[in-house]
Amino acid sequence: MSYKLPIPTPGTHTQPFWAGTKLGKLMLPKCQDCNRVHWYPRFLCPHCHSNKLEWIEASGEGTLHTFAVQHMAFGPYAKEAPFVTAYIDLKEGDRMLTVLRGVDPTKPEEIRIGSTVKVEFEAANDDMHLPFWRVVGE
Ligand SMILES: [Zn+2]
Repeated sequence: MSYKLPIPTPGTHTQPFWAGTKLGKLMLPKCQDCNRVHWYPRFLCPHCHSNKLEWIEASGEGTLHTFAVQHMAFGPYAKEAPFVTAYIDLKEGDRMLTVLRGVDPTKPEEIRIGSTVKVEFEAANDDMHLPFWRVVGE
């Protein structure tokens, strides 16, 4: 494995998410009271403050809401620049921040807001698989 960047440490309320990524699944917290999903994982639903939460397997599909080319970065990310960060509108609802793959950061004029994106996973090590998103269509 060649992943050299910092790796997240799962906490009690994010462990189901990371267990899912290891299986190639995008898991999202969903409120059993208002039926809405939210990102990022929290102890309470940010929409209605209920603590009746469950995890659902998401489709892994979404659309590109917006993006930014990162020309400068710090620490271990410095040598990754330029790269593209983006907000993804998840098919199930809410929005996820990500590093966008499959785009050329030197040609931002070719990146289209509203493009169809799909999640993919990269094994950072044997225990941690990280989600990234890739443009798959207009
Ligand atoms: Zn709710």
